[in-house]
Amino acid sequence: MDQSTASHSIGETCIVCEQLKKQGIRIYTKFLCIDCEREIVQTDVHDPRYQFYLQQLRKIMNREIYS
Ligand SMILES: [Zn+2]
Repeated sequence: MDQSTASHSIGETCIVCEQLKKQGIRIYTKFLCIDCEREIVQTDVHDPRYQFYLQQLRKIMNREIYS
């Protein structure tokens, strides 16, 4: 078993749900899975979960911009 190709086929770790997903989008150097992206779009801004998603996304932004 080749480790590098094995990890590639599994996918990437999503920054919101922290699970390995194959499909998603890249934000800077981080990965957001397609499920979470859909969730964020559909979640009402007054929903507590929306704040959680925003928080997760801000963490990436801040790290990339100010590092
Ligand atoms: Zn996710």
